[in-house]
Amino acid sequence: MRRRLIVGNLKMHKTAAEATALVHRLSELVPQTGEVEVVLAPPFTALHAAAQALPPSRPFALAAQNLHWEDEGPFTGEVSAPMLKDLGCQYVILGHSERRHSFGDDDKKISKKVHAALRHGLRPILCVGESLSDRKKRRTKTVVTGQLRKCLEGISKDELRTLTIAYEPVWAIGTGHAATPTQAGAVHDTLRATLARGWGAEAGEQVRILYGGSVTPENVGAFMASDQIDGALVGGACLDPQSFATIISLAQRVAR
Ligand code: PEP
Repeated sequence: MRRRLIVGNLKMHKTAAEATALVHRLSELVPQTGEVEVVLAPPFTALHAAAQALPPSRPFALAAQNLHWEDEGPFTGEVSAPMLKDLGCQYVILGHSERRHSFGDDDKKISKKVHAALRHGLRPILCVGESLSDRKKRRTKTVVTGQLRKCLEGISKDELRTLTIAYEPVWAIGTGHAATPTQAGAVHDTLRATLARGWGAEAGEQVRILYGGSVTPENVGAFMASDQIDGALVGGACLDPQSFATIISLAQRVAR
């Protein structure tokens, strides 16, 4: 059985001092994560502070929210995989819809970022998802499988096993209108079938597929009860330690 994963994406929220306070409070509320793996993705500027704030038991892993595909060079304002590794990151979120839509991250660039992450031992959390207009035109499956295949071009079976996919319908992110577990589950099945076709059923089975988009303490239980959904990528609801802790504890308690 794949280990459940809950990822908190702080987006462009929290100074270093605020992220420190969040990690301290979360560590009090969730001293042990048990069967659930928890990852926190602060902005670049708060990664070092968050790493320092973790208690020795290290209940949470750290993720970056993006990276540049080159290791170093004249890329003003960018941050590379070795730099993130050096800060203690184990994961990196790639292909988030906010980066796709506001910062020009297309499948080709995302693929280069996935390769850079893997080269340096960072585990990608690859986001895919359709827009509302794609869904209305019944293009959801075509869009998400296209993103998946292009972003993972050239990835080996062993590399694939280290990857996490987050299905994040664009229309559900930050809107308060989450997909239903049935809608999400149907897309997860399609994504897993695509992985199995490309890399074999055994490797495909090992990849965790998360749901993301307006996950809250109120709706997370229903997602966790689905055996197609291996966890959640949480945005807004992770900014408040109490609500993120409730999401984690529901992920620990709700049986599939
Ligand atoms: C996200 O940032 O990936 C996200 C899913 O945000 P929210 O939970 O706020 O919809």
